[in-house]
Amino acid sequence: MSGKLSRRSFLKGGMAAACTLATGGAAAAAIKTPGNDKQLATLINISDCIGCEECVYACNESNFNKYPKPEKPFPKMVPSRVKVEDWSDKQDVTDRLTPYNWLFIQSATVMVNGEKTTLTIPRRCMHCKNPPCVKLCPWGAAKQQENGLSRIDSDLCLGGSKCKSVCPWDIPQRQTGTGLYLDILPSLAGNGVMYKCDRCYDRIADGEIPACIEACPEGVQTIGPRDEIIKKAHELAKSINGYIYGEHENGGTNTIYVSPVPFEEIEAAIEKGDGKPHFSAAKDTMADANNLTTAMLLAPVAGIAAAAGKLFLMSKNADNGGNDHA
Ligand code: SF4
Ligand code: SF4
Ligand code: SF4
Repeated sequence: MSGKLSRRSFLKGGMAAACTLATGGAAAAAIKTPGNDKQLATLINISDCIGCEECVYACNESNFNKYPKPEKPFPKMVPSRVKVEDWSDKQDVTDRLTPYNWLFIQSATVMVNGEKTTLTIPRRCMHCKNPPCVKLCPWGAAKQQENGLSRIDSDLCLGGSKCKSVCPWDIPQRQTGTGLYLDILPSLAGNGVMYKCDRCYDRIADGEIPACIEACPEGVQTIGPRDEIIKKAHELAKSINGYIYGEHENGGTNTIYVSPVPFEEIEAAIEKGDGKPHFSAAKDTMADANNLTTAMLLAPVAGIAAAAGKLFLMSKNADNGGNDHA
């Protein structure tokens, strides 16, 4: 593993209770995701995180089959200014977001109640209420479900990176040498596939809670209907005289952090760089008139592109007896 935190050194054991809202813990396997028909949000209580990375490893294990399996050598990049992005030989990197690491633990050393304290903070996709990555994807490859989670269909994504450039936190990460572009556009355009946390959509569809929530020994994350999560976040913030992030950022997200110190202090203390999302203010991307117009114009085109991509894959799978590259 990379990064400063060792996986098990901080483990204390223990688990959280499951009531209307479901939290993690070693015995959480039987806990069902509540209110799957509504917008679901997660509450992340930063004060409780011990930085053990159990959530990171659980994400990796649970989503391993969704990770890219690129074909090498890569086709020449077109246009040539597009960089090859290859994480396939660095799959053990856990100190930032990559196509093979959808959750990492950020750390910030700050003063809490007069004491120097290192806060450890799980970071991944915020699952915005009105996600620009979905609304502005020209190929209809990014989708949002009714329960509020957004995900990128790796079968349809061409890796153009629009989702990353419009995401206020630059969350999606590209892997070259995989996906649809290898079949249809290798000498014209396309650069791979974008990857990010899909909030364990398949587990949620089966009524389970996301792997990272289930694995956490401290019950740091809670998932439930957004209105209940917001209420709980305010109660928690009030009880610790703390601060909230995610309720209004980018027009509101389905990931709500509660911190004992202002997020400006956390932002000043975290390591910066690609794959390391910020904690600054994030204006509502989709309130921008240009983006709204683009989204309206794109919606039908993206729908047709997605349908064409699916048809292509179906015919290709039929041709080779259902075997396909990742
Ligand atoms: S945080 Fe970024 S990648 Fe995640 S839903 Fe919002 S815009 Fe999309
Ligand atoms: S919700 Fe699922 S995909 Fe997202 S970080 Fe947690 S384990 Fe990973
Ligand atoms: S969220 Fe939980 S599992 Fe993840 S690092 Fe913090 S304490 Fe460990």
